[in-house]
Amino acid sequence: MLLPKFEYDEPRSIEEACETLRTFGETVKPLAGGTDLMVNMKKGVVRPSRVLSLKKLKTCNRIEKLDATIRIGACTLVAELIQNQVIADTLPALQAGAKALGSPLIRNLATIGGNICSARPAADLPPALLVYGARVVLHSQQGPRTVLLKDFFKGPGQTVLRGDELLTAIELDRPPANSGAGYLNLGIRKVQDIDIINGAAYLALNPRDGTIEKVRVALGAVAPTPIRASLAEQALQGQKPSQDLFVQAGQAAQQDCTPITDFRGGAAYRKAMTSVLVRRVLETALKQIEK
Ligand SMILES: Cc1cc2nc3c(=O)[nH]c(=O)nc-3n(C[C@H](O)[C@H](O)[C@H](O)COP(=O)(O)OP(=O)(O)OC[C@H]3O[C@@H](n4cnc5c(N)ncnc54)[C@H](O)[C@@H]3O)c2cc1C
Repeated sequence: MLLPKFEYDEPRSIEEACETLRTFGETVKPLAGGTDLMVNMKKGVVRPSRVLSLKKLKTCNRIEKLDATIRIGACTLVAELIQNQVIADTLPALQAGAKALGSPLIRNLATIGGNICSARPAADLPPALLVYGARVVLHSQQGPRTVLLKDFFKGPGQTVLRGDELLTAIELDRPPANSGAGYLNLGIRKVQDIDIINGAAYLALNPRDGTIEKVRVALGAVAPTPIRASLAEQALQGQKPSQDLFVQAGQAAQQDCTPITDFRGGAAYRKAMTSVLVRRVLETALKQIEK
């Protein structure tokens, strides 16, 4: 399959990129690592007449540790999420999600922004980002706006991103000392496979009595978008962590999901595995706190 012909732009600033998006509208597509876009262009799924490379946008390539937040540029490579010490020290679930994504070859091209904007229900990075309460910064010629990641996804391949907007950064609050998080995925193969189900959990414990003060659970591949498992969260909130509680939360999470049946797994299997995955990922989050 050959790529169709297209015009190619390489803006050097966000402003320049936004101007091109506004001028050419729906006929232009941003290009980050190209691991989704180029495949879809070859298949004829998308047919932009102009491609806007984000490679030269220096401000979108940085990971910054600020006072209360961590800011990850949208063009940060997935490989960098694994190697970066700030991510390893403060956002271990995101690092685990990055390790699960594709192969070394894919991770050296793919970006965090591309993984989010592709809006695949089974993508590896959104669950971890959701449990850290991530916000996405969207830029247009009118300036930036910030949207909670949980409100960003609309359906498979669909988001609230407008045609004249670019995702420029992901912002996350620095997790407090008494917190931990984890990410797990299940696929037919261990690597280079679309997950049957994936998920992440975040727990923050009250330092006085050890009860769960803040909890977030997120799941992928069990609904049209990555989701927060609100019933599982309700089962955990304010309780003391225990094996029994994590089993209950896993069972509650089954009610949060509406999976499909496809050749990777049946809906009933996905629901059953949701319980197992949620229990295990909660154990991983708790172990992080006890480290
Ligand atoms: C062999 C193979 C294996 C894969 N394995 C996995 C896997 O295990 N897990 C997984 O989650 N994914 C996987 N993928 C999918 C893909 O690699 C990831 O989704 C990747 O993170 C996409 O990032 P990218 O930078 O390559 O995006 P691109 O392909 O450049 O872009 C993807 C889409 O997002 C848009 N876009 C990109 N950046 C921005 C931005 N900053 N602002 C606005 N729009 C933007 C593009 O226009 C395009 O529509 C795999 C792909 C391949 C080919």
